[in-house]
Amino acid sequence: MLVDTFGRTIDYIRVSVTKQCNFRCQYCMPDTPMDFFDNENYMPLENIVSFLKIAIDEGIKKIRITGGEPLIRKDLDTFIASIYDYAPHVCIALTTNAFLLKKYAYSLKQAGLQRVNISLDSLKSDRIIKISRKDALHSILSGIDEAQRVGLKIKLNMVPLKGINDDEIISMLEYAKSKGILLRYIEYMENTHAKWGLKGFKEEEILSIIEQKYSVKQIEKENFGPAKIYETQENYAFGIIAPHNDDFCKSCNRLRLTSEGTICPCLYYQDAVNAQEAILSQNPNQIKQVLYQSVFNKPEKNHWNEEMNAEDISARAFYYTGG
Ligand code: SAM
Ligand code: SF4
Repeated sequence: MLVDTFGRTIDYIRVSVTKQCNFRCQYCMPDTPMDFFDNENYMPLENIVSFLKIAIDEGIKKIRITGGEPLIRKDLDTFIASIYDYAPHVCIALTTNAFLLKKYAYSLKQAGLQRVNISLDSLKSDRIIKISRKDALHSILSGIDEAQRVGLKIKLNMVPLKGINDDEIISMLEYAKSKGILLRYIEYMENTHAKWGLKGFKEEEILSIIEQKYSVKQIEKENFGPAKIYETQENYAFGIIAPHNDDFCKSCNRLRLTSEGTICPCLYYQDAVNAQEAILSQNPNQIKQVLYQSVFNKPEKNHWNEEMNAEDISARAFYYTGG
């Protein structure tokens, strides 16, 4: 079993299968040229499967495939099927911008995918273009419909940004409710790759906007996930992911494997364990060693809750760690 030095059991691993993306979201990589990733040296998916089999033997119970945009990577269905065949009890999930989801939802579900988290920051076409630099709303909404049709369990993720999409905090909740989907608001996490000057919302601010229309109470903490779950009197459930809060890291149960084979113990810090050789060699002892080293290196908490000078802003790219 993987237990860190603060007594947290690590049973969840997020696997980034590529750094590449068809979007350029303002909070993630607005200024990254499209050809920036041309030389990505990603790990073969068969080797990642061997790595994950050992991680599962060591107690991993949930695997989330992410990126960049994971649906850009070919043969994801075979990858998922190999994990599922080895360990049908393990929950396999995906985080995607959904631009390509309509095309792939069915084959991914058939392969063993259970859950999909979809990033959706607005229901207005011009806003989506402004935020992600892609004319994508129609494709995203069709992807959501198709994922529902094939029976994937869905959550929506929205990053509310001041002056950009804050007037949609309530309409997004109402859209999610109309679809029977849980919406989670994510506090914008400051990082050096995001657009300069971008401002997000803290949990209390999001709640006070929703409370202008609905009365809200907290009901639970998400199973495996970092969100606190709230409900309005009218039964509109929603989640808030609040990494700026002190208690956010207390229940952290995860590691992150990048597409190029490094394991990041925390979303905030640059520290990482190089697992490339272990993954390429498929040597079980070496894989166990890098896993235990990463768990041992897990810091107690991030620094997002502290007043930050420019030099303290996290340089860890979300498209690299997979969020
Ligand atoms: N491309 C996929 C997507 O957008 O869903 C998967 C990768 S993306 C890095 C994973 C999640 O990170 C998304 O929900 C995205 O909204 C979130 N994210 C990226 N940058 C962020 C930031 N600076 N603050 C908060 N959330 C961020
Ligand atoms: Fe791409 Fe996701 Fe980053 Fe947006 S948040 S640029 S969709 S990786």
